[in-house]
This record gives sequence, structure tokens and C-alpha cells, in this order.
Amino acid sequence: MNQFSFCLLNSKKNKSPSFSTRDLYFITDQPQLLNLPNRQSTHSYLSLPVHLPLCRGRFEMGRIYTFIGEVVVSVNPYREMDIYGKEAISAYRGRELYENPPHLYAVADAAYKAMKRRAKDTCIVISGESGAGKTEASKYIMQYIAAITNPSQREEVESVKNVLLKSNCVLEAFGNAKTNRNDNSSRFGKYMDINFSFSGDPTGGHINNYLLEKSRVVHQQQGERNFHSFYQLLRGSPQTLLESYHLQGDPAVYAYTKEGAGSSANSDQSSHRAVRTALKVIGFSEDEIESIYRVLATILLLGNIQFGTEEEIVQVEGDGEVVSHIAELTSTQPQQVEKALLFRTVATGGGDVIEKGHSEQEACFGREAFSKALYERLFGWIVGRINSVIEVKDYNPMLHGKNTVIGVLDIYGFEIFDNNSFEQFCINYCNEKLQQLFIELILRQEQEEYEREGVAWQHIEYFNNQIIVDLVEQNHKGILSMLDEACLSGGRVTDTVCLDSMSSRLAQHPHYTDRKLTPADKTMEFQKHFRIRHYAGDVTYSVEGFLDKNKDLLFQDFKRLMFNSTNPVLKDMWPDGGLSITEVTKRPQTAASLFKNSIVALVDKLSCKEPYYVRCVKPNEMKSPVLFDAARCQHQVAYLGLLENVRVRRAGFAYRQGYSRFLLRYKMTCEYTWPNHLMATDREAVEAIVTQHGFQDDVAYGHTKLFVRSPRSLFSLEQERAAL
Ligand code: ATP
Ligand code: MG
Repeated sequence: MNQFSFCLLNSKKNKSPSFSTRDLYFITDQPQLLNLPNRQSTHSYLSLPVHLPLCRGRFEMGRIYTFIGEVVVSVNPYREMDIYGKEAISAYRGRELYENPPHLYAVADAAYKAMKRRAKDTCIVISGESGAGKTEASKYIMQYIAAITNPSQREEVESVKNVLLKSNCVLEAFGNAKTNRNDNSSRFGKYMDINFSFSGDPTGGHINNYLLEKSRVVHQQQGERNFHSFYQLLRGSPQTLLESYHLQGDPAVYAYTKEGAGSSANSDQSSHRAVRTALKVIGFSEDEIESIYRVLATILLLGNIQFGTEEEIVQVEGDGEVVSHIAELTSTQPQQVEKALLFRTVATGGGDVIEKGHSEQEACFGREAFSKALYERLFGWIVGRINSVIEVKDYNPMLHGKNTVIGVLDIYGFEIFDNNSFEQFCINYCNEKLQQLFIELILRQEQEEYEREGVAWQHIEYFNNQIIVDLVEQNHKGILSMLDEACLSGGRVTDTVCLDSMSSRLAQHPHYTDRKLTPADKTMEFQKHFRIRHYAGDVTYSVEGFLDKNKDLLFQDFKRLMFNSTNPVLKDMWPDGGLSITEVTKRPQTAASLFKNSIVALVDKLSCKEPYYVRCVKPNEMKSPVLFDAARCQHQVAYLGLLENVRVRRAGFAYRQGYSRFLLRYKMTCEYTWPNHLMATDREAVEAIVTQHGFQDDVAYGHTKLFVRSPRSLFSLEQERAAL
């Protein structure tokens, strides 16, 4: 038998022309998987060679979505797909997961139904590596939710929806960039809560952003670009406006944009118009929009500032024109700008405050830190401003009922590059946390449902990555604590000294390897590396720059400069600039501890919601719609936890359905229930259907639901129903 034939489903009843009449539903429905004698030994047979041909087969047929239980696996098609239109939306609206071919809409609808019918807070977690299609997926999900809500077109709800959708355009302009892996890569993690009223209409929302890759502002790898916003400003603004910003329209002129100056000129122009419109629609004032672009212009000008030394005094090169342009753009004084660039205020041991001149190197470091911080604060401010517009106002639960939430998480996947640094370390730690949550939630949810319904459940073993999470985050003993200790102990500790200390303290840890890596690593400069055995694979990190990135030092002088700006928008971005040097906390929070806190808060938020998962797979590196690179996909399937996922699902019951709904759908397949049954309860009627079709050994009867172990049983029912 052909490996696919068993799982093909004739779905003539499906009216949507966007889908083929025959479709393959579940990865788990391989004959090899279903006919196994011992269900508990699932892990041994869930080999990658079994999954991959299925994924490949579906990709080649243009079926980019596949379910594993309720998890949707999405393979990036790298081409326009005609599967997101109005007809598809109506096909999925209010339907159960398995009634239609696998689709993002099915998951979005399931989350929406849970939220509306059961007043459950839900979340949709989208993961996958760069370029796998996470952001596109999150946009389709939001579009779907927007399309199925507010049927009466109430104006205030329409306006909330509009702002939520338009916020994507703005966040992409300021938070995305062209990288070597993705032309529109999100360089930040995003979690968006959408709030709903009792009647199921959006009432507002809230966006959290995580770890913006601000190093991109001052440096990009070969072939990559800075954030889109810079090119959009330069290429999309009229000449007169550029002149008022003291800018020229060519990105090649600026140190921070010249690397990416060669690509995508047209879309930058049109995107700039779209972003300006979106900002207006969201509710940014003209002054605010002007201030945003002034900050961008300031950063571009800062990037071109050079320092020189004359008679041992460090100076800004040139005639001071750039400094006065920066002062004008930031509504500050030129002397103050120059001073912040060349001096720092320090408190002496005796309590005096002195001004210390920078070396050339320190001045360059200060300029770069200032540019990065300006952008990071700008981005944070934009997100905060959008939040202030979309936050739910005047909601009275006594009057309006419970306010429920759907959260959508679009966050960076696991990263293994040739050179892995502090950013990869943070991102991979975040993925460890999410993986743990995934397993915990999926198991917990299953377990709770079985208990509620009075169905026996056998616990299954799985790899608990808590040990790796602890290795990173445990207080005093984890890597993050050790990095913080090193940062707070003053300038004496270098990256290598910190690595020494880490390696001696973690020598016995099974998931940590110090610089004495294997002989195969000899080619590396392995004196500066450590390796972590992550759940998704081994990653070797270069410790170089870790401490600087963790300290994330920005001289107080820059903060004060911005705080003293007469532009209220800029001042608002720098509230901490009001502190004097003696008030500045001696123990500022490090980048790693800020990140850890934000991820812990995220996990807390997610863990109290009913989760839905979208796992995105990138089929190849060439952005090709036809190429399926098996080795790459194999790795992704493993690290996305898909095998674990199938295993958990297979140990229990793959599908469950309320008795009355099951009856409604399948009563025509049984003589005792069609057109109506005469039994005392719906449950008895369902028993009659199950028995007539001979899969009584494959089910369990809960208090309100039927539990079906293998989807094969449902398929046969669906087939029969379709044939009638
Ligand atoms: P990153 O982590 O870098 O942000 P990502 O996972 O968010 O990556 P996307 O930006 O969503 O990736 O997708 C990358 C590109 O792949 C898109 O710009 C688009 O060209 C294509 N793509 C992704 N999903 C789809 C889809 N469903 N239909 C058509 N093209 C898609
Ligand atoms: Mg993205």
C-alpha cells in the first residue's frame, strides 16, 4: 500500500474550492504508526525517516499545513498561496479541527471558540527558526480573528481591529531587517494579547517586545541591512524633508546603512508611506511622528561622527556642523552634545563629581552605545505608545462580563550559527523555557481533561529539560548569575577570566563542556568557548563580548542630555536621565537579568492560558518553493519537539468530542441514530455508532465526551459520511 493512501480522506462535503477534495490529515496517521502492537513504546518507531517523507509529500502537493493532534505544523511555501481568502475563512469559522483540512485558521478558530464558548484565556505560540514563516502566520491568525468578529460592524470595535492590524506594519518597519536568512526578519520577540468582550469582539490589546537586536543599529553582517526604518526614511522622504533632517537620500553615505545600501529600493519608498499612514491611523500625533524620524536622523548622523586627537585632546572631527545638526534634531544644545560625546561625569571615592575626558576608543564606544540606546528606547516608546492606544479602557466586568484574552507569541526559534554569542545564548535559553512550558502544558492539559472526564490515563516519560534551564538561570549557581557576578565585580574581570570561573564551577555538569572541547574543535579558537548541550542540540558559544553585552553600559551623560531635551517626546523616552551621577544605582540590572525577568514573566502569562501551537518549518535555505532539504527539516522536526509531541498524543487519546456534537456530525452513518435516536442519552447513541463501526476498543467514554485513541477511527467515519 502506498504510504499516503491510508491517510487520504475524501472530503467532498468540503465546499471550499481552495482545497483539494482529497487531503492528508495527520502525520500520526501513517500505517506504520497505527498498527503497532505496543502503544507505549512509541518513541522507538517515531523515527525521522517516517516523518520526513510525509512532510515532503505534503509540501510537494502544496499542502503546507499538517496537524499533530492540535498542533499545526507549517512548512513555508515560499510562494503566494490561495488559501487565505474569504471562502477559506467561512469554511473554518465555528468548525471543529478535524472537519476541514489542516490550516492555521483551524487553530485560530479553536482558540477563539475556547475563548468565547468557555470563557478561557488562550494563547497561540508560534515557533520556528528564522524565515520559517512565524510572522506571516501570526498575521494570518490576526486577520482571521479580525474577519470573524464584530459582524454588526460596530465602529469602536472596527477601530480597535484596525489599530491591532496596523501595528504590525509599524513594528515590522522598526523591528525587522533584511538578514542573510530572511529578507524581512523580525529582530525582536513579540507577544500580543488581544482582549475580547463577553460577546467575543476585540476590545483592545497589549504588546510585549523582547530583546530587540540593537547591535544591528551600528553593525550589520555582510549582505545584511540595518532596520528597515532607516532605508524607508532615506528613500521614502521628499527632498525638502530630508534637508530639514540634514540628511541625503542615499543610504550609502551613512556608516550605519551603507552595508545594506544595495537592495530593495522600491519597496522602501512605498513602505515608508504605509508606515506614516499606519502611525496616523494608530493615533500618533504629527509631533510624535516628526520626533520618531528625528531620532532616526540623529542616529544616522551620529554614525558618521569621527573622533581625532590633537595635542592629546580628543575632539570631534570636522567643523562642528554635525554636532549642531544633532543638537537641532534632538532639541538640545550643541555644547551639551559635544560634551556628552567627549566627557563622562564620574563620582570620585571622596564624593566629588568630576568630568573625565574620553580616550578616542572610549568616545567611539560611547557613540555606538548611544546610537543603540536611542534606537532601543525609540522602539520601546513606539510599542508603549501603541499600547496606550489599544489598552482596554472603561471595561467594567460587572457590566460587560469577563474580559477574555487570546495571546499570540511570535518569537525567535532556536539558533545555532557558526559563531554564537550572547544573543544566541539568550535566545536559546528562551527556547528552553518555552520547550519546558510546551511539554508541561500539553501534559498538564491532557491530564486535567482525563481527570475531569473520569478517563484513565497512563503517565509517559519524556525528557525534562529543567536541568538545562537550571544550568542557565538558577540563582547563584547558573550561568546568568555567574555573568552578573563578573559584571558587577568591576573592570578587572575579563571574558576569559569569567569563562575560567564558570568552567571550574560547572565542570561536573552533564550539559556543560568547557574550553577543553573535543579534538575536532582544534581548529576553533577554543580557548574562548563553552558548549551547552541544549535539548535541541549542542551549541558552542564564544564568550568574547559577553560581559560588555551583559553590562550594556551607557554613560549617564547621554541619558541626561536626552532628558534635558526640550522636545517632550524625547524627554519621555529618557526618564532615568534626571538622576544625578551620585544617585545612579551602583548595581544596574544587567541585560541578561532583564531578559530573564521578561521571559519568566512571559512564561507565567502563557502558563495560565490554554495553549495552541504552530510549529513552522523552513524547507530550504534558498527561499525556493520547490526544494525540500531533508537534512535541514530533520533537525527542525527534532528541535521543535514534534516527536515528543506525537509521543504524548499517542500515549493518550488523539481526539475527543462532546457527545451531542459527535452525534450531530455522524448520526447519519448509523441506522439506530438516523434521523433521530430513541435512546435515553446522547452518550448511548454515540455508543451505538461506535459499536456499529467496530471501533469500541479504540475509545473511552468520559462524562461529557467521547475519547478516540487513533484518528483512523474518525477517518473511517468521515469517509462514510462523505460517501453518503
Ligand atoms: P524571522 O524569525 O526571521 O522573523 P519568520 O519565521 O518570522 O522569520 P517570516 O518573515 O514569517 O519568517 O517568513 C519569511 C518569508 O517567507 C516571508 O517574507 C514570505 O516571503 C515567506 N512566507 C512565509 N510564510 C508564508 C506563507 N504562508 N505564504 C507565502 N509565503 C510565506
Ligand atoms: Mg518574523
